Amino acid sequence: MFDVIIAGCGPTGAVLAAELRLHDVRVLVLQKETEPVSFVRIVGLHIRSIELMAMRGLLERILERGRQRPAGGFFAAINKPAPEGLDSAHAYLLGIPQPVIVHLLEEHAIELGAQVRRGCAVADFEQDDEGVTVELADGEQLRSHYLVGCDGGRSTVRKLLGVGFPGVPSRTETLMGEMEVGVPQEEIAAKVTEIGETNKRFSLRPFGEGVYQVIVPVAGVSDRAEPPTLEDFKQQLRTVAGTDFGVHSPRWLSRFGDATRLAERYRVGRVLLAGDAAHIHPPIGGQGLNLGVQDAFNLGWKLAAQIRGWAPETLLDTYQAERHPVAEDVLDNTRAQMELSSTEPGPQAVRRLLTELMDFDEVNRYLIEKITAIGVRYDFGAGPDLLGRRLRDIDVKQGHLYGLLHRGRGLLLDRTERLTVGGWSDRVDYLADPTAVLDVPCVLLRPDGHVAWIGDDQQDLDDHLSRWFGKPAN
Ligand SMILES: Cc1cc2nc3c(=O)[nH]c(=O)nc-3n(C[C@H](O)[C@H](O)[C@H](O)COP(=O)(O)OP(=O)(O)OC[C@H]3O[C@@H](n4cnc5c(N)ncnc54)[C@H](O)[C@@H]3O)c2cc1C
Repeated sequence: MFDVIIAGCGPTGAVLAAELRLHDVRVLVLQKETEPVSFVRIVGLHIRSIELMAMRGLLERILERGRQRPAGGFFAAINKPAPEGLDSAHAYLLGIPQPVIVHLLEEHAIELGAQVRRGCAVADFEQDDEGVTVELADGEQLRSHYLVGCDGGRSTVRKLLGVGFPGVPSRTETLMGEMEVGVPQEEIAAKVTEIGETNKRFSLRPFGEGVYQVIVPVAGVSDRAEPPTLEDFKQQLRTVAGTDFGVHSPRWLSRFGDATRLAERYRVGRVLLAGDAAHIHPPIGGQGLNLGVQDAFNLGWKLAAQIRGWAPETLLDTYQAERHPVAEDVLDNTRAQMELSSTEPGPQAVRRLLTELMDFDEVNRYLIEKITAIGVRYDFGAGPDLLGRRLRDIDVKQGHLYGLLHRGRGLLLDRTERLTVGGWSDRVDYLADPTAVLDVPCVLLRPDGHVAWIGDDQQDLDDHLSRWFGKPAN
């Protein structure tokens, strides 16, 4: 008997497994593929995900394998630098290929004690009052208290659960792959600049050692089950650029669409959905993996609390209440970005206008906070603006605040030195620090770093500790 079975060991499943292990939850991750995938999909980690890595002590090893790049220029690929003074100690984009980040996240989950079984696809399940019986493709049956579908956009778990996935099907398609080219770099750069004036969905980027990442739009939507061929790339490059750049020796070839869909529910009884299993959208702006990782951080401690037996009754349902609106917003902004990338004259005019508007610091800041997810604010009721937001990594007397959050527990940061976490000390850490750079007296942080309470009154604090962390232990 496991506490939680996770279907899928992509970025979402791996992070969720690690978060659950921080609370000693018995986790089994089932991964359909026998080998790790080699697709290089993502642009990288945006600010909030980088912060989350810092919160769990993972940032250094991730920084070693990635490249820091400026945070600006990602909204619809409109070329504007990020505004000064973004509210983060990690205000950059971390370029890191998806297979590398997935490997690091999986390695971390295993180090913390998660079991990962490869070559095991979830084929069916049945839930009852005590748990879930999960059936694998080879007929083996496993039992757990909860099942989480982190099994990607075509999620088997979501389909078996019968949860609706309404939205818009793909209307455009893009080929993407890595391959070598047969013409000099300068020739490619000149052509890419020329086409990029009007076509924002076309690019050829050098990836080193003569290998290029090629992204080229396709007219119409083809049979998506078939992977594209090198000949498809050549043909499409000739159509868009007038030359196929002599491409050859592909490393991998794929295609993606712009389908936009959101699961109607994130939880049915003992089965939950996270990451692409719960939402899909066009990759423009590079938010999908980030969104899934952030789902996992939101869900992990709540599911652990449920299993450990201290979760307040409605805690697990706050997962959907908080994360569904965030996904809705990402779906909306990616849809808007796709429109802004159209070659039609109307959207091009809107793009020019938005480009001008982004010269206003507030507009630029708003968009970058949206795309990097540092602007996310959960609805915890009325209160100061900071309530419901994540707190940036600030200096505290022991060093950095995020350095105190590695164990995935709550934290009371008390500038008054008068308060106590009392009977919640088994779940919530306490730091008295009158020097902490905060313009409020005290904050209570949830394990995902969001501000659950602000104030200086012990009774009010106790009420909020109960709200988020259940009954005190003594
Ligand atoms: C071209 C492209 C570019 C992108 N660029 C970015 C970017 O720059 N930034 C960004 O944040 N996002 C980007 N994304 C999106 C990102 O790749 C996804 O959002 C991310 O991979 C979702 O992670 P996940 O773990 O939820 O799902 P997945 O990565 O799809 O992982 C799901 C896993 O579940 C496994 N699985 C499936 N079915 C089963 C089953 N029945 N049983 C067990 N295992 C199963 C699969 O093998 C897979 O390993 C891009 C996507 C594309 C297509």
